[in-house]
Amino acid sequence: MRSHIIFLTRVLRIKRRVYSGVAIIVILSMLVGCGEIFHKSSDPLNTQSIPSPTDSGKPVMLLIIDSLMDKPLREAIRTGRAPALQFLLAHGNYFPEVVSSFPTMSVTIDGTLLTGTNPDQHRIPGLVWYDTSEQRLVNYGSGGTIETLKSGPMSIVKDSLYNLNNVHLSREVKTIHEQLEERGNSSASINTLLYRGNTMHRLDLPRIIANQQNFPPQLETFGPTFLSLGSFAQIHSQNRTHFNLVKSYGLNARFSAQEIKYLIEKGQLPSFTIAYFPELDQAVHKYGPTETEKIEEVDRQLQHIFAAYGSWEAAMNNTTWVVMGDSGQTFIHGDRNKALISLRQLLAPYRIVKLGKPVKDDDQIVLAVNERMAYVYSLDKRVPLIQIAKLLQTDARIDVIAWKEGKDIHVMAGNKGGQLSYRRKGNYIDPYHQTWSLTGNLSILDIEAKGKHITYHNYPDALARLYSALHSHPGRQLVVTASPGYELVGENSPTHLNGGGHGSLHKQDSLVPMIVTGTDTAPKHLRIVDIKDWVLQLIQ
Ligand SMILES: [Zn+2]
Repeated sequence: MRSHIIFLTRVLRIKRRVYSGVAIIVILSMLVGCGEIFHKSSDPLNTQSIPSPTDSGKPVMLLIIDSLMDKPLREAIRTGRAPALQFLLAHGNYFPEVVSSFPTMSVTIDGTLLTGTNPDQHRIPGLVWYDTSEQRLVNYGSGGTIETLKSGPMSIVKDSLYNLNNVHLSREVKTIHEQLEERGNSSASINTLLYRGNTMHRLDLPRIIANQQNFPPQLETFGPTFLSLGSFAQIHSQNRTHFNLVKSYGLNARFSAQEIKYLIEKGQLPSFTIAYFPELDQAVHKYGPTETEKIEEVDRQLQHIFAAYGSWEAAMNNTTWVVMGDSGQTFIHGDRNKALISLRQLLAPYRIVKLGKPVKDDDQIVLAVNERMAYVYSLDKRVPLIQIAKLLQTDARIDVIAWKEGKDIHVMAGNKGGQLSYRRKGNYIDPYHQTWSLTGNLSILDIEAKGKHITYHNYPDALARLYSALHSHPGRQLVVTASPGYELVGENSPTHLNGGGHGSLHKQDSLVPMIVTGTDTAPKHLRIVDIKDWVLQLIQ
């Protein structure tokens, strides 16, 4: 942490323009949860009032601890460093393997969580993707300093703060906030980048952003009854006490906890609250998947929230608690040459669009890298996608390579021969009651068939999740993932050597733990896509 702040301080001295860029990178990286900034905090608050739910039934509190995984959670609890989580676990049910959506990147997962659909319906394809109609890369803030500066920080600000909720998230689907409001229930979103609802809010832009050309000091946006997003929007105006660069402009666990506490103390806790605790993600990226220190810190904040109820028992009795991760992370090797798969090198025979440059008539490939997953777009219709797939297959560190052709999805792998082809509806049925037609080498997606029944192993819910990513937005694209231990890179992509990364279809990136306390029910299937319907049932 210290070296990072020294680095930042040095950068601040160099140039105001660079300062703007770095400040914006900090804001964006905290928003999307894949940045590189760290800070410590402690919260001395304690209060004694009892909440009175405004709606019928117990309110539901869904807390997302970014990149929380089963093993580190168990380790933190076993060593006595997470007493509040241990308390919830002791009085509830534990589900260690809930399947995330794909790509395993926060914005896509949030879209799935809020809408109960995969990206083929909610239309948030990833953290980075190519918009064919505007001929540009959309980037919600991948966290890489050079990548952000080259891509244009202000376009990232506009995509993440405005376009994500108000333009890109499909109008064909409803968020849980929209549905609750239509039913007459209230809801809250705290430090979650996706939050669309029916109530108009204003986001205050920090001066560092608002001073940029063509940016107003406030942005109008539609959110739930209560919208909180660090320095951009607060539920309690007095929680504006730690908005600066080092404290991530309020996009941190302490701020999330203070906003929740305020709702409890005022007796205004709505039917449903979703809140993000972002810091663990950055720590796992840096130190690897065994990191537990930030779980301890989130637990301290959870203890402050419990205190607002008067006692831990009152917290348990008055609220239904769901505490979960959003994606897992996979260890990335420390040796740069071994760990990083350069897509630009692999696809060197083609002309690849340069970052931040307009697409030229003779450009052939666009890369949208999402850590351990990438979309590879072919702009040249004369180049068949299978030709690109075969070139990608020459690197044994590449895992899944997939593309669509009519109704079929074709899948190859860098480390296995043959091809698997499949389409929706058919004679095979999977554990989620989805049916498929399948031909070719099933081992490419580690699928086991017994008669008509198929089961998934290394790639949970693989067929639906891969299908969904390939149908999430227009274009001629392939989906590529890296095998465990490796990371995909384009031009100036952020890297996580000797740390952790996510994005892929593999179970290491895809399975997250979930603690449920206050109900013995569970989602229909243990997938993030099934959580919205379950929460709506809980609130009825
Ligand atoms: Zn991340």
